[in-house]
Amino acid sequence: MTWRIVLLGPPGAGKGTHAKILSERYGIPHISTGDLLRSQIQSGTALGKRAKTFIDNGRLVPDDLVVEMVKDRLGEPDVRAGYILDGFPRTVEQAKALDEMLKENKAPLNLVLEFDTSEAVIINRLSGRRTCARCNANYHVRNIPPKREGICDQCGSPLVQRKDDQPETIRKRLEVYERQTAPLIEFYKQRQLLRAVNGDLEVKPLQEELAQHF
Ligand code: AMP
Repeated sequence: MTWRIVLLGPPGAGKGTHAKILSERYGIPHISTGDLLRSQIQSGTALGKRAKTFIDNGRLVPDDLVVEMVKDRLGEPDVRAGYILDGFPRTVEQAKALDEMLKENKAPLNLVLEFDTSEAVIINRLSGRRTCARCNANYHVRNIPPKREGICDQCGSPLVQRKDDQPETIRKRLEVYERQTAPLIEFYKQRQLLRAVNGDLEVKPLQEELAQHF
C-alpha cells in the first residue's frame, strides 16, 4: 500500500510530532509546509522574504506561493513511495489545487486524518513548545522535555520558542484555522477520505489510535 496522507488539524494538535513517527514507521517522507517555509526564510530566498511577515503575524501565506512550493516538492523522486502532508492544504483553494496535481500524476490521496483537539490542549502545547532552529525537532517544556534543558537531543543546537507561538499570535492562528482551514473537514468528508482521531491524547495512546487507520 502506498500511503498518500494529509494530516488536518489546528496548530498544536500534534500533526508534526505524529508525522515524524509515521514517516519513520512507514518509510515515507514527511512534508511540512511550515518547515519548508521556515527553511526558505533561513536561507533568505525571495519566497522566504515574502512569507515571513505572514508567518510572524499568524496569517496564512498566499495560496499561489504555497501551492507552487508543494508542487515542486511533490515532483521529487522520494514521494513515489508515498508521503505525509503536514500543514497542507490549509484552504479549500489549496485542496483543489492539490486534487488537480494528483490527478495529473494519477496518484490520489488515500487518507485524511483529522486531529480533533480542544482549545485548552492546543494553548498548553503551543505555549510550552520549544523548537530546534537547526533541525526543526519539537519539544515541550513539560510533556516532551529534551534531555538537557534548552538543547536539542538530536543535533545539540539551542532550542527556541517560535515567534508565532507567543500568546497573541496563537490566538490569531486559531481564528485563521477556524475560518480558513476547518472547512476542509467537510471537503474531505464528502470525498470519504476523512478519519477523525482524538488530538487531545498524549503521544503514545494517539499513536495507537492512528495505527488503527493503516
Ligand atoms: P506550521 O508550522 O504548520 O504551524 O506553519 C507555520 C506557519 O507557516 C503558518 O501559521 C502559516 O503562516 C505558514 N503556513 C504553513 N503551511 C501553510 C499553508 N499550507 N498555507 C499557508 N500558509 C502556511
